[in-house]
Amino acid sequence: MTAAVIGLYGFAGARDAAAMATIGVPEPLRGLPGYSLEALEGPIKIGIQPGHWRIDELPDEQARLRTSTGAAFGSLRELDLNLAVSRILVDRLNAEGYAAELVPAAVPAGYRADLFVSVHADRADRPDRRGWKLSPPWRPSAESRRLAEAMAEAFRASGLPEDQGGVTANMRGYFGFSWWRFSNALSPYTPAVLVEMGFLGNPEDRARMRDNPAFYAGILLEGVRSFLEESDRDDLDALVPVLYRGVSAGPGGAAGRASPSFGSAVLERYPPGRYLNPVDSSEGGWFEVFSRPLRRGVWVHESELDGE
Ligand SMILES: [Zn+2]
Repeated sequence: MTAAVIGLYGFAGARDAAAMATIGVPEPLRGLPGYSLEALEGPIKIGIQPGHWRIDELPDEQARLRTSTGAAFGSLRELDLNLAVSRILVDRLNAEGYAAELVPAAVPAGYRADLFVSVHADRADRPDRRGWKLSPPWRPSAESRRLAEAMAEAFRASGLPEDQGGVTANMRGYFGFSWWRFSNALSPYTPAVLVEMGFLGNPEDRARMRDNPAFYAGILLEGVRSFLEESDRDDLDALVPVLYRGVSAGPGGAAGRASPSFGSAVLERYPPGRYLNPVDSSEGGWFEVFSRPLRRGVWVHESELDGE
């Protein structure tokens, strides 16, 4: 997306907005220039991206990412696992009458679909760490969030463990999602999720991903099906990403927590008046803000923020 739009919506440091912040009033990003917000027609279109596939074809604006070839364990490459799972998934979706296709790392500019899944496997340096995790983009639309929830439900039903609290800024700000930074990214109106199936470094995860890609494709298929059961192409509002007004830490300061719960670990503390830029929200008055030092999102509660 263009600098003009970033300026318009104050993505980076709209400090003036903090002064007039109204907590909990999101500004929907309708009518972004260059992107059409119209109901899709024809067969349900599904983009499945094997993570890091054809990464060398990234355009110049993403040149520094061409070396992002993914994790590896010996000669076993994440890319091959992602590709095996994605191919099975696309075949099965097409057999069910959907219009599914593989999407390379260089996402066609403004790619619009009923849903998009980027399929990955995680790092190889931690034998003890295992499990899946997934996330929608920053500032997700209602449909992106619902897609992530449907996928998480399918993974839970599979019995595989979750890598709790493992979602990183690189997942949520994945370059393929980053329409505000790049032309070669999804349309902001495409519901999207990035899935890390498991860890290459963990013997169990690795063996299952290598030997049974159909198992993972089956989980993803379940997630897609249950998402689509509730989808309504004409509900355009549900496709619009949500941008929050800036907030600031209240007179007593604010705590940044690992999850939206007072019982979860405090990862950062903010002095009174510190400007914070929410990137997501959760029920009960919680806002997720991006922590630059921690390279992840942390959760603050409205009771510790300055209101109107
Ligand atoms: Zn990856």
